[in-house]
Amino acid sequence: MASANDELVFAPLGGLGEIGMNAALYGFGPEQNRQWILVDCGMGFGGEEHLPGIDVVYPDLRFIEEERHNLLGIFITHAHEDHIGALVEMWPRLRAPVYATRFATGLLETRRLSEPGAPKIDLKEIKPGQRIKLGPFDIEYVPVAHSIPESNAVAIRTPHGLVVHTGDWKLDPTPYLGSLTSEETFRALGDEGVLALICDSTNVVREGTSPSEADVASHLAELIKTAPHRVAVTTFASNVARIRSVAEAAREAGREVVVVGRAMDRVADVARECGFLEGLPDFRTPDNYGYLPRDKVVAILTGSQGEPRAAMARIAQDEHPDIALSKGDRVIFSSRAIPGNEKAVGAIINSLIEQGIEVITDRNGLVHVSGHPRRGELAQMYQWTRPRIAIPAHGEALHLEEHARFARGLGVSEVIRARNGNVVRLAPGPAEVIDTVPAGRLYRDGNLVIQANERAVPERRKLSFAGLVSAAIALEEDGEIAGDPIIETMGLPSKTRSGESFDELIADTVSEVLDGLSKAKRRDSDTVENAVKRAIRAKVNEAWGKKPACHVLVVEV
Ligand SMILES: [Zn+2]
Ligand SMILES: [Zn+2]
Repeated sequence: MASANDELVFAPLGGLGEIGMNAALYGFGPEQNRQWILVDCGMGFGGEEHLPGIDVVYPDLRFIEEERHNLLGIFITHAHEDHIGALVEMWPRLRAPVYATRFATGLLETRRLSEPGAPKIDLKEIKPGQRIKLGPFDIEYVPVAHSIPESNAVAIRTPHGLVVHTGDWKLDPTPYLGSLTSEETFRALGDEGVLALICDSTNVVREGTSPSEADVASHLAELIKTAPHRVAVTTFASNVARIRSVAEAAREAGREVVVVGRAMDRVADVARECGFLEGLPDFRTPDNYGYLPRDKVVAILTGSQGEPRAAMARIAQDEHPDIALSKGDRVIFSSRAIPGNEKAVGAIINSLIEQGIEVITDRNGLVHVSGHPRRGELAQMYQWTRPRIAIPAHGEALHLEEHARFARGLGVSEVIRARNGNVVRLAPGPAEVIDTVPAGRLYRDGNLVIQANERAVPERRKLSFAGLVSAAIALEEDGEIAGDPIIETMGLPSKTRSGESFDELIADTVSEVLDGLSKAKRRDSDTVENAVKRAIRAKVNEAWGKKPACHVLVVEV
């Protein structure tokens, strides 16, 4: 039972305003003493923005780190990196039990074994359909169709009502492998009375209904059957249904499957343990590839996002130790480039085409479908669950806004536009944003994790734009100049428009400034540094139109 001051709140720390780093808190209790559960703990990718040196971003979980004594558990909806990828880094700061299905726990464990120093997470395996009671929460895993095995929505029952957090889902009557999104189950939740639906917005801008995974499978089978020579398929390593459909098509066509890339290996191992590849012959390792006849092989590769170190990119550059492709071979991109990766993927495709290799993508063949619901599917979910409150999630601002309009159009009475860091009261009373908590991003930088507002990344961005000038000046105690200043530049063009070298230009500038300062002024190194710096930046800007970063070092000799 709820007491008078108890509130049910939703507080997203990631995933509302971007696609990636999903981390959603639900809290119950009086304002000063709430108990919490965290749904998902995902990472994002840095590449989409201009973040030099940063490939991975994490949600800033500082709020729940400080409240971790009230964090009852972490519930993982499915094993995609944007839902699970921050756990290894962030779990030691939270230390709450992590509930996940076997496929997800299997992937986490395999990864831990291959990463020295990865923490041993307190994992609790949970079965699709299972219910867990924790404090005021009663959490049910509700299977849904998606592009990875064992995806779940979570139905969260509390003394203030039932919340359905969909996670990533789609409707697919023939998902090829894994669960269906069950109309019966979601209708039953609707009959029970859904207070709030927190729902996937990824494809809300697309009309209609997604094609089925089974349609993709039959199309892939046709492409593999009719290929004159080698076939290479690249897809998301985690898409086991896709791997299975390629493997079945290969078997039908009398071809062997070679799996290439570490992420793909890991997933294949766990998928086999979980029984998802049952009945299929064992996959071959890359060293077998060279011995198989050209028309007897299908390679399944990592690197569908154009990652420079993954198999696909290395093969396109002919730099892979085991795998080569030649004129007349067929490459299938069974994937779609995530925004930000289009250029890298395009470069690989162009390079393959230049080599006479045939390339098929989702633009010229039904070789990929998204795992997220389009408008037709979303409308069904709203009809089944009939929520009082809708909160669009899993999307950029555009998706969230479009979803809010869509939900209102379907007649949902309370539609809340929430963003990371908002605390939304779901009950009692009308739903509204009542507070904000710290939220933001952390960057993985080498093997450190840094705050997004640290100087490092903006400084690197500046350097990449306009380079660096360093000047070292030696002065004697009385202000007399000792020797010539030493100038070093990095990232500057070699010559000005009039043909003068920048090094000379800068050296002359430094000498002019020093000559222009009185001996007395030259005794103050701060004055010298500031004057020289200002003059260098102004002079270089005049010649180049850009102001480099500038370091001036005054040494007393
Ligand atoms: Zn997903
Ligand atoms: Zn997702």
